[in-house]
Amino acid sequence: MSISGNRLNTEQYLANFDDIHPGFETKEGAVIEANRCLFCYDAPCTKLCPTSINIPGFIKQIASQNLKGSAQTIFSSNIFGGGCSKVCPVEKLCEGACVYNLMEEKPISIARLQRYATEPAIEHKWHLFERKTSVNKKVAVVGAGPAGLACAHALSLEGVDVTVFEKESKGGGLMTYGIAAYKVTPEFCENEVSFITSVGGIDIRYNQALGKDISLTELRSAFDAVFIGIGVGVARQLDIEGEDLVGVVDAISFIYNLRTKDYAEVAVGDKVAVIGLGMTAIDAATQAKRLGAKEVTIVYRRTENEKPCTQEELNIAKLDGCKFEYLASPKQVVGQNGKVSGLICDKMTLGEPDESGRRSPVSLGETFELEVDMVIKAAGQTPFESLIKSSNILHKNGKILTDDSLATNLSTVFAGGDCINGGKEVVNAVQDGKDAATAILRYLGVNA
Ligand code: SF4
Repeated sequence: MSISGNRLNTEQYLANFDDIHPGFETKEGAVIEANRCLFCYDAPCTKLCPTSINIPGFIKQIASQNLKGSAQTIFSSNIFGGGCSKVCPVEKLCEGACVYNLMEEKPISIARLQRYATEPAIEHKWHLFERKTSVNKKVAVVGAGPAGLACAHALSLEGVDVTVFEKESKGGGLMTYGIAAYKVTPEFCENEVSFITSVGGIDIRYNQALGKDISLTELRSAFDAVFIGIGVGVARQLDIEGEDLVGVVDAISFIYNLRTKDYAEVAVGDKVAVIGLGMTAIDAATQAKRLGAKEVTIVYRRTENEKPCTQEELNIAKLDGCKFEYLASPKQVVGQNGKVSGLICDKMTLGEPDESGRRSPVSLGETFELEVDMVIKAAGQTPFESLIKSSNILHKNGKILTDDSLATNLSTVFAGGDCINGGKEVVNAVQDGKDAATAILRYLGVNA
């Protein structure tokens, strides 16, 4: 057993990481699906969309073959409507709310239709929005992810001049660096950022990290307002023996490598244990398998019933042949010659419910060992605590505290997205960016 890259040939990598949700192959296919929609008066699908996209509206525009109108309807509510059509857990949002579910029929394929309308708009940079003339106000946005760019776009439309400071060399945040490549490709993410900024008035400065290259104090003095959308990004440590052995990696770095290197360069073990059962754990496990790992076992402290990922995500892992060890908690990583050779787990049972209502896992006092040569940690993320603590911004458990208008305790500073909620969906971050833009415009006295 050994950890290495370059296990498959180029064709195999391309096939394994090909788009998992292909769009409609023909216009007719999309129009037929659009015509299935009942165009419900009180559209429950729209009510469950965090960005309130007018779903029957854009579907009707597809049915009448008004693709530009459809794209505009989507992007008016969600400028990341293209990416969201690929990464949103639609089975628990719009498609889960579709009335067809009540009739025990297949819900409308809202995500595929949304993708059908948005992909050409992004690819060909359709000019759908007109920026107002400059109002001579300057806003700094920290983070070019979904929250930051949604805020930047909404501000720019109203004539505000926006400068975005991004610590990475590309925009898109989690979309670009933190999601499985078979859901959304790096090329798509790059095009999406370029489409969003094509409205004008948004200057992105890359390789600029808050707390390192720029400070909040500097931004507050140089700009009329500041929006912080830095996401969460530090993997939670397991704090168990053997965590420093070669072959123990965190899922965020593993996925980051997959997004920034050739697949053949990303090292993976023969037998891999992935700790956790959230979306990041599933993305790490399925991609380890697709990179050529022979066996991938997902280790989770609770049972399948308490899973934080969606059923759809779990199904992908099952179809990819991942194994599951439920009611198991990592206790020690075992090594030989400094490298991982096994993972000892505590057997667990479920005890009393915790604050969230989920039953807490309790150790049974017995252990078992998995023979593995790689351990991927995906047991949650902690926000950039040190970065937050280095300023006077109010925070709790590493999350920035804001009021209802997303204003922080520091005058002129607003925040939104994962850095205030600890990590929700991309679509929630987009809505926060929009809400913060509304609050900033009000604060600046710019009439939206
Ligand atoms: Fe169409 Fe379903 Fe939404 Fe009704 S709930 S408008 S059928 S997508």
